[in-house]
Amino acid sequence: MSGKIVRVIEGGGSGLRRADYSFANGTLGNFRRMENIPKTIEEAIAFMCEELMPGIEGVAGSLAGVWAENHIMKKSPNLHVFDGEDIGKRISTICNRPSFWGNDMLTAATGEAYLRNLYDFYILTVGGGIGGKRVYKGEVINPDAEVGHIIIDNSPYAKMCGCGNQGCVEACASGGAVKEKIIEICRARNITIPSGIDICKFWDDEYDAEKEWAIILYDQVAHALANLFTILQKTHPTQLIVVKGTLGINVLARVSDRIRFYMREKMRINPQWADEDFLKIEKSISPNEGSLVGAAVLWEKYAQLW
Ligand SMILES: [Zn+2]
Repeated sequence: MSGKIVRVIEGGGSGLRRADYSFANGTLGNFRRMENIPKTIEEAIAFMCEELMPGIEGVAGSLAGVWAENHIMKKSPNLHVFDGEDIGKRISTICNRPSFWGNDMLTAATGEAYLRNLYDFYILTVGGGIGGKRVYKGEVINPDAEVGHIIIDNSPYAKMCGCGNQGCVEACASGGAVKEKIIEICRARNITIPSGIDICKFWDDEYDAEKEWAIILYDQVAHALANLFTILQKTHPTQLIVVKGTLGINVLARVSDRIRFYMREKMRINPQWADEDFLKIEKSISPNEGSLVGAAVLWEKYAQLW
């Protein structure tokens, strides 16, 4: 087993987070969070390289967006200071350590596979957006997939998606889409959303109180996710779908039976691919830290002094 320690970085809409991963202990430590969203690339790189002790052999990053060659961020959905930047080269220049950079779902899939010794599964994030990766024979086989932008609603009034298309699963069943729907429903039904409470928490409370609107909306999300799961099962069937993301975990806890019901209706040739005996649908073992571990695992394979 490797005795290496690697600095791991994660970023998203709420800013940057870093920790140090020890392969020998299999643990993450020295967590730090950058409270504000970085305004300049220099500020972001300085945070990544801060307190890099001599024993830390390199830097591994997990950031949403499109990467080129494991070190250049082509386009970030939420941290635009990174757009077009050769992050690997900047790290090499500032702290002279090899680095690896990859998409947050690639690292999450790699982390889940490593932590659970899994070789064949799909992992999906259902949070602010929707993303997914397929692990087959221990490797991520679709690193550039755009699972959230699979179109599941072809109707002319389907919701617009951030990508510019209509009816993507992300426009129908992501946390962002659901928040908009809650506001629309409550306005139409004259329901007052209490101030100071998260909109989705209000929806959950209403669901637990068996309010009709909240049950219908959960059912719609289950239907949309069933459409997605069905497409995944029909293209490359698996026996395990791992779910992460706040909304995804809430949906699993409340309406996983509805997801299976709708999947069975759509899978007439191989309905058993939706059955519990065949397909497990589980939440991620490490929804918050798996991608950091995955970044370190990919660092061991692919890191370079760029
Ligand atoms: Zn889209």
